[in-house]
Amino acid sequence: MDFNDTPDEAAFRREARAWLAAHATPRNAANSLVVNQETGDFSKEFPHARAWQAKKYDGGFGAIYFPRDVGGGGGNSLQNMIFMEEEARFDVPATNHFMIVNRGCCSLLMKKGSEPQQRDLIRPSLRGDLIWCQLFSEPGAGSDLAGVRTRAERDGDGWIVNGQKIWTSNAHLADWGVMVARTDPNVPKHKGLSFFIVDMKSAGITTRPIKQLTGGSNFNEVFLENLRVPDANRIGGVGEGWKVVIAFLAGERSNIAIKELQPLIASLVRLATEARIDGRPAIEDGGVRERIASYYIREAGVRFTVQRMLTALSRNEEPGPEIAIGKLVLGTLVQEMTAFALDLMGSHGIVMDAAHAPFAGVWQTEWLGSVVDRLGGGTDEIMRNVIGERILGLPEDVRVDKNMPFNQIGRG
Ligand SMILES: Cc1cc2nc3c(=O)[nH]c(=O)nc-3n(C[C@H](O)[C@H](O)[C@H](O)COP(=O)(O)OP(=O)(O)OC[C@H]3O[C@@H](n4cnc5c(N)ncnc54)[C@H](O)[C@@H]3O)c2cc1C
Repeated sequence: MDFNDTPDEAAFRREARAWLAAHATPRNAANSLVVNQETGDFSKEFPHARAWQAKKYDGGFGAIYFPRDVGGGGGNSLQNMIFMEEEARFDVPATNHFMIVNRGCCSLLMKKGSEPQQRDLIRPSLRGDLIWCQLFSEPGAGSDLAGVRTRAERDGDGWIVNGQKIWTSNAHLADWGVMVARTDPNVPKHKGLSFFIVDMKSAGITTRPIKQLTGGSNFNEVFLENLRVPDANRIGGVGEGWKVVIAFLAGERSNIAIKELQPLIASLVRLATEARIDGRPAIEDGGVRERIASYYIREAGVRFTVQRMLTALSRNEEPGPEIAIGKLVLGTLVQEMTAFALDLMGSHGIVMDAAHAPFAGVWQTEWLGSVVDRLGGGTDEIMRNVIGERILGLPEDVRVDKNMPFNQIGRG
């Protein structure tokens, strides 16, 4: 593909840049370090991020690739990418931490939601007035998501749900959740699942924060006890929840792979300019320059892979398994870059306290939190399985329980 902007894309870029210049402050050497929201305490960032999302939405840039009739920008995924590139040049709160799930939920409702759900939920969710969370993972079902044990049992015109979810980002902030639950334990695991949307303010939901390594509590355990969900909140057919989950997660991985790393590289260059090796700026050291160049090359590789995926999307094709490549490379890259930043700081690298650490400890927090990119949205090993099986055509992973009724696997 041609990576240069077409005349239309260049015009959109100018429009985006002008809007951003009118509403935000450009990043400069002092504020160029982006903070990974999964790592710090997102509750403090949240009001600012939500206000920025609303401003973008009102300006026509908060939901670029959604149709105008639901309040979107009526544009495409490439325009969204252009906006994100331009936005990364400004000192604004990042909104992806909740908007990835919000956008996924809105796409889902547009395709499969009822008329009242589309009318009442899509616009406020795109604007960030409503927040969604993703109730998928359970203590025994993360990578093997089809192994969920949360049960939904039919009860009149609804369902009674009992079970436990875990690692649920933003559950403590959320108004709504998307949930996968087992509705038939007598059939193989992928076939007995159904997909629901859940009002997080309902009786029967208890949310408990999980303390993270970095000090924040951005995800939670969620206990579901005799939670009543109306059948109208089921998305897709009974027993067809797995198909819905797959479509939903493909969107999440592509969003994760789109994460902007250029500001992080720019910050690393700044750090290498200020740090000293043998009394000279570290950036003058050949080894340091080589490392930064290799990060830049890998970042460009991810960006181009994502652009290939976006080209498919803008042609109305489904994104392919190449999303897994972007996610796999990106996760490791962030971890390596942040570890290298701490090395550059020498003994200061181990100081975490914001009052004493260089750059207020942001690199330390980034490094501690960088592991999340290798887990959330699918672990490295699962990405490798996807690449091996679906891109390289290697033999499939062994899945002995694939065709067994769930209640005979030994955990139903
Ligand atoms: C920051 C963050 C936010 C998250 N937010 C959410 C959320 O909002 N909602 C939600 O539902 N979940 C969320 N998760 C959960 C995430 O999806 C799971 O952590 C992830 O899918 C891995 O599942 P697990 O933790 O149960 O690990 P497991 O699946 O138990 O994996 C343990 C280890 O075994 C490896 N492994 C497992 N199966 C295979 C295999 N077949 N082949 C090779 N290796 C394998 C894994 O790669 C991993 O190293 C979040 C996670 C993180 C880190």
